[in-house]
Amino acid sequence: MGTFTVTTEAGTEITADIWFRCYGVVPNSDYLGDALAPARRSDGFIDVGPTLQVAGQSTVFALGDVSSADSKMAGLAGRQATIVADNINALAQGRSNLAHYKSWGTAIAVPIGPNGGAGQFPGQVEIAGPEAIAEMKGREMGVGRLRERFGLVPETGAGVADDRVDVQPEIEAMLNK
Ligand SMILES: Cc1cc2nc3c(=O)[nH]c(=O)nc-3n(C[C@H](O)[C@H](O)[C@H](O)COP(=O)(O)OP(=O)(O)OC[C@H]3O[C@@H](n4cnc5c(N)ncnc54)[C@H](O)[C@@H]3O)c2cc1C
Repeated sequence: MGTFTVTTEAGTEITADIWFRCYGVVPNSDYLGDALAPARRSDGFIDVGPTLQVAGQSTVFALGDVSSADSKMAGLAGRQATIVADNINALAQGRSNLAHYKSWGTAIAVPIGPNGGAGQFPGQVEIAGPEAIAEMKGREMGVGRLRERFGLVPETGAGVADDRVDVQPEIEAMLNK
């Protein structure tokens, strides 16, 4: 594999090994009926407030890729789902003090195989190297955490990493600094 060089619109030359073509997210929200249509922005995202309630609604929530809440990532959608579940419970119990969603900030983890990759953690400007990304994601792609969430027994056997590290507490700690 060789390198390639591109020039940005601003005239900066970038030489790299790999090119990831990115398309962004196009929300699929045009099916919303009259009652919810006003909360649909011109770019298709559904406007939500800090409690993730849809704009103008008290009992309708939006989260994940379709909502205006944050960057479009599965990890963030999961955090938003927890807030929405808590808030639905609160409303059902007649409480009005709903929890607010707090953005993680910029984050990306791109593993290349089980031991390679690069990324950026929330609140950090520096690029995270292969070791950190492998530890966070590349070795087992979060399967352990999902098994735990769904109450499945831990996977065992050849090829299963024993050294899984859940970096979520560290990320939370960085954000709460
Ligand atoms: C190639 C790729 C790689 C990614 N990698 C990562 C990653 O490494 N880490 C990360 O955090 N995130 C990643 N993401 C983003 C992540 O997949 C999304 O943020 C996440 O899936 C959003 O979850 P969601 O439930 O909001 O939407 P979705 O997962 O898109 O779920 C929406 C569901 O609604 C269904 N649907 C749509 N319209 C209708 C309708 N009219 N009626 C009924 N059902 C409907 C769709 O079929 C779909 O099943 C990646 C995304 C892509 C495409």
